[in-house]
Amino acid sequence: MNLIPQGTTPSLRRCILAALMRIANRNGHPQWYAWKTRLLEHYAERDGFDTQRYEAPCWTCGGTGGNDYGECFDCNDGVHHVTRTVLTRYIIEGYVFHQINRTRLYTDEDLDAIEEVDGWRHRLTGKKSNKGTSQAASMEAEAWILLLCGGYRTLWRWLCGAGLAYSFYGYPLGTIRALIMAAKRVPLLPRRVRNAWWQWKNRDLPF
Ligand SMILES: [Zn+2]
Repeated sequence: MNLIPQGTTPSLRRCILAALMRIANRNGHPQWYAWKTRLLEHYAERDGFDTQRYEAPCWTCGGTGGNDYGECFDCNDGVHHVTRTVLTRYIIEGYVFHQINRTRLYTDEDLDAIEEVDGWRHRLTGKKSNKGTSQAASMEAEAWILLLCGGYRTLWRWLCGAGLAYSFYGYPLGTIRALIMAAKRVPLLPRRVRNAWWQWKNRDLPF
């Protein structure tokens, strides 16, 4: 049973899905990005594209461009390299999501040129940060997305410990997962009894 309706009519449930996707997206991992692609295909509308120009800071000099002995040899004024990316825009109930586009841009002239193309919206230059959203909150949001979209089999596997090897108490579904994972660690029989079979086999070895 999928509780999220498709289509263009305004929907509170799709709004909830978008808010959950926002939270999940802040601590991305390969499995999440696979889900994100499918969710956007189903529920989002395309809306042109954005461009992003990112100046990667130099780790040798800490982004200062120099050290005690003079100029840093690994960078240009603290900028190690620049990435220029085209990001396809998707919108779910007013929430914007980005998917990386395969278009390659090597110079700032390329970037300026593609910003003349119809459909361009914004240039993003800020550094993305997931500060303030914990891994636990993102995993909880993913679990609720699975619940609302009918991914019960995947949700059950996740509750039984699949996915990131990380469990937490506090959020409702995360607490259930942590309890199940804790219960799996509880030995049903005393260690001496559990090891009896293994020890019996060992004792038969000739060395
Ligand atoms: Zn440097």
